[in-house]
Amino acid sequence: YKTIRLILGDQLNAGHSWFKSIDEDCLYVIAEMLQETEYVKHHVQKVCAFFHAMEGFAEALNQAGHHCLYLTLDDTTKYSSFNDLLKELINKYSVSYFEYQLPDEFRLRNQIADFQVSGVDVSSCSTEHFLLPEEDFPKYFTADKHNRMESFYRKMRKRFDVLMVEDKPEGGQWNFDQKNRNKFKALDLKDIPEPLIFSNDVSDILKRLQKHRVKTIGKAESNLLWPTSRKQAKELLDYFCQHCLPRFGYFQDAMTCNSEHKWSLYHSRLSFALNAKLISPKLVIDNAVQAYRSNDDIDIPQVEGFVRQILGWREFVRGIYWTHPEYHQKNYFKANRKLPAYFWTGNTKMRCLSEAINQSLDYAFAHHIQRLMVTGNFCLLTEIDPDDVDDWYLGIYVDAIEWVELPNTRGMSQFADGGIIATKPYAASANYVHKMSDYCTGCDYSHSDKTGEQACPLNSLYWRFIEKNAEKLSQNPRMAMIYNVWNKKSSDEKDAILNKAASVLRRIEEL
Ligand code: FAD
Repeated sequence: YKTIRLILGDQLNAGHSWFKSIDEDCLYVIAEMLQETEYVKHHVQKVCAFFHAMEGFAEALNQAGHHCLYLTLDDTTKYSSFNDLLKELINKYSVSYFEYQLPDEFRLRNQIADFQVSGVDVSSCSTEHFLLPEEDFPKYFTADKHNRMESFYRKMRKRFDVLMVEDKPEGGQWNFDQKNRNKFKALDLKDIPEPLIFSNDVSDILKRLQKHRVKTIGKAESNLLWPTSRKQAKELLDYFCQHCLPRFGYFQDAMTCNSEHKWSLYHSRLSFALNAKLISPKLVIDNAVQAYRSNDDIDIPQVEGFVRQILGWREFVRGIYWTHPEYHQKNYFKANRKLPAYFWTGNTKMRCLSEAINQSLDYAFAHHIQRLMVTGNFCLLTEIDPDDVDDWYLGIYVDAIEWVELPNTRGMSQFADGGIIATKPYAASANYVHKMSDYCTGCDYSHSDKTGEQACPLNSLYWRFIEKNAEKLSQNPRMAMIYNVWNKKSSDEKDAILNKAASVLRRIEEL
């Protein structure tokens, strides 16, 4: 071989121009690496999903006539990093060129950028996955300024001509957010579609993880339900467009514990397939828009709500990530408490938390509002160190890769960036959880009580958060109403609430 081309686990893009023609002199390398299993403790299903998808991708390349070397942990545990492995392969095959696609996170990008072997020509190229090319970031993002998703999203709609009628948004509005805030009523629960799940045999991978003592979290399944090939990802996309898209926007923020499909609801669950690049955001958006055009059951708020997540949020957080290399150090509220042990067991009496955590442990998945308004809100109000919060999110979710996890967790959910992404903290009392879910019914705690024995911890914690951060937040126009409510409370009531919050925090491990 003359050339080695490295393909990382989240670079499984079959449409990449690398694969347009067969080069007999080129060896593709895909490798299971301990360094990737160890940078954080991952959910076992996440590791299995990546390894299974990588193995399948290598097989497909070989079947198509390319030359691809797939290395399992059995072959690679002796190498402490990609660079050690690459050095050996380059020597072994005496190649003169090493090529790679630019990694999507600082950790790997810096590591591979440091790679040099004398006499070998190193070059990199784009993954050709995202809609917005990296070179265009400066036109859309300014470091350390507030960057607003909504204006970014409008530019993207125009630039890529998605749901546009000439230069106007289709349906007369850019955004139908106010139509996306419905709660499930008893009658709706029986309509929730059964999720399409796969049955990928990962028993050999599980054996390898055990053999090499890879530490993981969560429930192991030898039949993995996540899509691990382009074909499965497309099937899931088709299934979503047919069965979930008609009500996607409508129930986007709703949560329930009274349906056997409570973990999947109307969500696409395409995030792993997208982030591993098994399918492209363009294909997902095009198919959703096509489904809207051909199916009368899908109206504009549903499809717009979905398009916004991918064309808007997903591309937006990526831009924020790359324009803020120091983001991982941000800690606006100087939060420093440790994450309670029940984040790894689900063993808490708070029903909302227990539902979201148990589901995450079982499926390596939670939907957006569970991540933002249940676990995220709890961590915000209890001042958990954002490093701990990041590690938990980065480990537990099947779709978690730093470029998308970090801005969502540290920025959106913890407001640790002081408002680079969000216009105000997503802090909420039990009132929000009760409004958007049925979690509070049957919970040990009372959602309507602030200070009593059975009061939901979120209530006093919420007001404590408001009081404690008044200097940082009270001037924010979007918080003015809340501060009005707080300031009108009598000092006795304030004291009772703050005392309750203090006692909740003292017993945080026992909630
Ligand atoms: P759907 O609800 O069907 O949405 C469709 C797609 O839109 C998703 O697959 C995803 O690609 C994209 N999307 C939706 N919301 C966002 C968002 N806020 N940012 C980026 N893309 C978005 N998403 C990840 O892919 N990886 C993460 O590590 C991750 N961490 C998160 C952490 C927190 C604290 C929060 C609040 C959100 C996080 N998200 C993350 C965003 C979102 O929760 C998931 O993308 C979504 O739940 C995945 O499920 P789905 O595919 O069914 O999404």
